[in-house]
Amino acid sequence: MSAPPALAAQVYTWEPSNAAIARRYGLDPAGILRFDTNTSPTAPPFLAEGLAGPFEPPLNEYPDSAYEELVLAAADYFGVPPDEIVVGAGADEVLDLAAKAFLPPGGTAIVPLPTYAMYGVLTTQRPARILAVPRLGPEAGFALDVAAIRARLPEAQLVWLCSPNNPTGAAEPRAALQAVLEAAAALPDPPLVVLDEAYHEFTGETLLDLRGRHPELLVLRTMSKAFALPAIRVGFGIAARRTIERLERVRPPGSVATVSAHLATLGLRQPELARENARRIAAAREDFAAGLAEAGWTPRPSVTNFVLVQVGDQAAAEAAAERLLRSGIVPRTFGPANPLRGHLRLTVRSPEENARLLAAIRG
Ligand code: PMP
Repeated sequence: MSAPPALAAQVYTWEPSNAAIARRYGLDPAGILRFDTNTSPTAPPFLAEGLAGPFEPPLNEYPDSAYEELVLAAADYFGVPPDEIVVGAGADEVLDLAAKAFLPPGGTAIVPLPTYAMYGVLTTQRPARILAVPRLGPEAGFALDVAAIRARLPEAQLVWLCSPNNPTGAAEPRAALQAVLEAAAALPDPPLVVLDEAYHEFTGETLLDLRGRHPELLVLRTMSKAFALPAIRVGFGIAARRTIERLERVRPPGSVATVSAHLATLGLRQPELARENARRIAAAREDFAAGLAEAGWTPRPSVTNFVLVQVGDQAAAEAAAERLLRSGIVPRTFGPANPLRGHLRLTVRSPEENARLLAAIRG
């Protein structure tokens, strides 16, 4: 039995691994630079100390299922009470919990496209219907079409919002996000509004302060971006207590390893490291974008640690991606059916690594 087209499963696809690229192009895997994953050029310096220091995790025991130490550090950093936080194995797991708790099989989720691919994947996994609401075009900075979203809200049990948005790199004005929340709250049965703030530390903007007035709001955060710890897989959902309670009912008891919870705690206790990292990356971003423009590409304005670049038509983008891969540089690509065909998404890395990418473009 095959699913009707609107419910057809979407699958998350990565670019090829370092090992696969090295085999394909005869390269040393150690020299490959990933510009496709929106990560940071280096891990925080406390990592080695944290592992070699007095922390001796009881590896023969399961993690504390409540992650108490981690939740307290997160509560301090976010400025919210501990019972308004849910912990996941990366923000991705919290997105998964949101879909499980709030999106019934056969339901409907609004996905403003283009955006982070996991929203579509998780929606079809329920399986539920993706109600695609296209964003405004590049001239409008790919902003949300707030009027169109508001018009479709009564059909949805869940709305996936992302600000700053991946892969466009722009932040949504607070008023636009608030307008969606207010329209949702006015409905007799409000949908859950997920606001993915994975890239929050690059702007400092948040709607966290609205969670009391809007129990339908779930804000997502992660240790993977400005905190530079994607390998440990720790993310958070922050919402009014009754929303967190619904997520807790579908949360697996120990998906975050003891070692990960400890390292995330260390990271959250030194938020100045994340802020410094974000500042360094923002400075590198402007030079990187200027270099991309000099090379004849069109970088879209970005407030994040990645830049969406229009290369030309789809054939030009594919040729550029191939040229970069041959030099051991991995861009994020978009397929021919994607609204961002003709574009590549490039992570901002260190000035030296960015220069390597620019040199590879110039050939
Ligand atoms: N949300 C957005 C918008 C992202 O770009 C990413 C990572 N690419 C994630 C969530 C997943 O984050 P995590 O590593 O915490 O699962």
